[in-house]
Amino acid sequence: MNPKYRRIVLKLSGEAMAGEQGIGIDIDTVKQIASQIKSIHEMGVETSVVIGGGNFWRGRDALTIDRATSDYMGMLGTVMNGLAFQDCLEEMGVTTRLQTAIEMKEVAEPYIRRRAIRHLEKNRVVIFSAGTGNPFFSTDTTAALRAAEIDADVILLAKKGVDGIYDSDPKFNKDAKKFDNLTYYEILSRELKIMDSTATSLCMDNEIPLIVFGIDEPNSMIDVVCGKDIGTNVK
Ligand code: UDP
Repeated sequence: MNPKYRRIVLKLSGEAMAGEQGIGIDIDTVKQIASQIKSIHEMGVETSVVIGGGNFWRGRDALTIDRATSDYMGMLGTVMNGLAFQDCLEEMGVTTRLQTAIEMKEVAEPYIRRRAIRHLEKNRVVIFSAGTGNPFFSTDTTAALRAAEIDADVILLAKKGVDGIYDSDPKFNKDAKKFDNLTYYEILSRELKIMDSTATSLCMDNEIPLIVFGIDEPNSMIDVVCGKDIGTNVK
């Protein structure tokens, strides 16, 4: 199969790393994702990954902790995911670099845009962790920001438990209708809860295409990179 894209940002939620238990890291699940990334990487696609942290901590959920502090805790969670993901990829023989938006140079290199691009050109998978480095943002916004910064062709938003964007939550409404194509404007005007509005606006303003797809199907990541018509296309 031939890849459709030259350079991608894959956004993985923290939940995707957690497997069935829903929290923490399930190494077998991470390995399954990593093996698909390895295949994509071997096709010659310049691959970067923005990793979430909701399997450890979500800033907005901790009502008794100062929001900014809580968000920093969330960002640290993404670094743990990044390390686990890096380890699995390297174990499979894929060269990687983990970058953090909050400096912790004993653990990983700091986020430096030009360096990230150079790594991609040198065929290394780049994992972006610690979000944007700022509280009050999300890792979806990070994906939009990094995609704009590194001039990615597309953002692939991998979702657990759902295979695209629906007009209402398919977990609660069995008549929910899935969209094949959408615009960012429609996401905002219909208040579809697929990404936060900051991330949606950033993608819209910078005209970054997005594909929302499910990762529960085996090989869905490879399929989406090869242009198979799955999930929802947003332009
Ligand atoms: N976070 C943040 N700034 C960022 C990215 C993330 O403060 O730029 C914090 C925020 O508290 C968030 C948590 O990190 O809830 C984990 O990220 P996110 O919820 O986006 O992870 P996901 O839902 O993708 O697992």
